[in-house]
Parts: sequence; C-alpha cells; structure tokens
Amino acid sequence: MPQDDKLAVSSLVAYYITERGPVRAVDGVNFVLKKNESLGIVGESACGKSTLGSALMRSMQAPGKIVGGSVMLLGEDVIKLADKEFGSRVRWKKIAMVFQGAMNALDPVYTVSSQLKEVLKEHGYQGDFDNKVAESMSQVELDQSVGARYPHELSGGMKQRVVIAMALLLEPELLIADEPTTALDVLVQAQIIALLKKLHEEKNLTVILITHDLALVSQIAQKIAIMYAGQLVEIGSAEEVYNAPKHPYTQALIAAVPRLRSPEKSIPFIPGSPPSLLDPPKGCRFYARCPHAMEVCKSDPPEFPTKTGYVRCFLYDPTLKKTAS
Ligand code: SF4
Repeated sequence: MPQDDKLAVSSLVAYYITERGPVRAVDGVNFVLKKNESLGIVGESACGKSTLGSALMRSMQAPGKIVGGSVMLLGEDVIKLADKEFGSRVRWKKIAMVFQGAMNALDPVYTVSSQLKEVLKEHGYQGDFDNKVAESMSQVELDQSVGARYPHELSGGMKQRVVIAMALLLEPELLIADEPTTALDVLVQAQIIALLKKLHEEKNLTVILITHDLALVSQIAQKIAIMYAGQLVEIGSAEEVYNAPKHPYTQALIAAVPRLRSPEKSIPFIPGSPPSLLDPPKGCRFYARCPHAMEVCKSDPPEFPTKTGYVRCFLYDPTLKKTAS
C-alpha cells in the first residue's frame, strides 16, 4: 500500500443471505483514498451504497455479511481482524459512521451530554469526560449549553450535529456519513455539508459521504464514486465526474440534476429500473437501460478498474470493436 494511501478497498463483496439466494448488494468494490482526499459515493436507492458503508464499518446485521475482499486502513487489513479486536481498536476509534436517520435514534430521556459521555464510557475512554464532550461539541459548532438539553428540544440540524459530535468523540481517521442531510431543509443541509468540509480540511479527517444527491456531494468531495447495482461504475475527481462524466449511467444521473437556469422544460429521467441483485445480468448491469448498449455488453461484464481508467464500460475499451445491439 503506497505511503500516502489512507484507505484501500479491494474486491469488497458483501451479501444478504436470503432463502432465495444471496442478494449481491456490494459486488467487488475497489477504490483508494489518499490522505488528503474525501469521497462521495452516489447512486440510486438500493444500489448498495449504504451496505458498502456498513461493510466498511463492519456493522452489517444478519442476514448481511462480508463475503470477501480487503479494507486496508493505514496499511492494516481491518477485515481480517477478529470481531472483538475490530470492536475494541478500530470501530469508532479509527472508523466512525453517522448512520442514516441516526439523529432520530437519540435517546429522548437523556440529555445530550449524558449521551455523549455514555459513548466515552462504553469505549473505555480514560481522559476527562467533561473536557472531551466540550471539545467534540465545539468541533461541530454547538453551543456548550446544548449539552444540558434533551433531543426533543433541538432542531433537526442541531440533532445531526450531536450525532456527528458523537462520531468524532474518539478521534477517528475516517468518518462515513450516510445521507446526513436527509429530512433537513435546504439551508441546514448546506450548513451540515459546510461542517463536514471544515472537519475534513481543518482536522485532516477523511470523510466518505454517501448520498443520492450528486450536486450536494460535488460541494465537499475531492473524489466521486458512482455506484450502480452493487458495483462502482465510475470514479474520478469531483470535477471530472461532474463536468465530464464518462459512464452512460453517470451521464444520465447528471442530466437529471435540476438546473435553475436550464431552458429545458422537463428533467430527463433514466428509463427502466435497476436489475435484481438476487440474479444480476451476467453482462453489464446497466445494459437494459443503456442508450449505447452493444452486443458484448449483454454477455460480458465490463471490468473495473481497467488498464486505461476508472469507468466500467466497454465504450472506453480501446481494443473492442463496437457493434450496436
Ligand atoms: Fe452501456 Fe455497454 Fe457501457 Fe454497459 S458496457 S454502460 S451497456 S455501453
């Protein structure tokens, strides 16, 4: 693993084992994040992006399980660690996650500071609890008086800051935030994104933001990964992916972002729906919806990454003779 890589995910596979067979929610994911990078993972609902976050955090619940691959964090494969060791040494201390809807899971009968202290207690924190809670709250720009309040006395934006403060208590290297702005109004969304950006820039915290909102992610992430049907289909700098998308699915996603000054009267949509992850197509998983589909796409799965780049699409394979299907 090169010195300046913080996180290297290779061939990560995570399934939900059902009576009808495995649901291939994460099916061979590869990406690398350098020390100064943050990543946005974008895709439609049920494309596997939340499962990917949970797999990185090793918090998948049965029938979900990690089936294979490696997650190298600062040179150590944290997938290989025994559950107990991962729980005591890595979870929350090196990798923390703000789960989707976590702000609604705050305990209504305890104050903010007692909930934050409980996290410290559970993880055997040895320092001064009051100081640590105060430090974490100031990192997320919450007034110290908020510590004495109960969750029902807080706005949605304040609750989300509490949840982020909780995730930061044990000073992780990597913070995974799953849809952290859902259910917040637009102004508060912008504040939460600005906060995550500040934490990344000033605290050297690597942030992985999981969202369906491509416009939002382009405000914070240096890199964007597009996920479709359990696989990454494109990854690149935010500028490249947003301004010059290569994969037909990314192109369609970007075309569907509403633009205030666009002369278009209707927003283009992507026809069809994603394939079942119980029985995904053997060729390209976007084949049935792709306007550029070729014969080869039906029978062969495009690779990712390839020798020439980070797009899972035969259109970018220089060796292939292109024949429309
Ligand atoms: Fe479309 Fe083929 Fe590329 Fe898949 S591999 S996105 S079907 S052109």
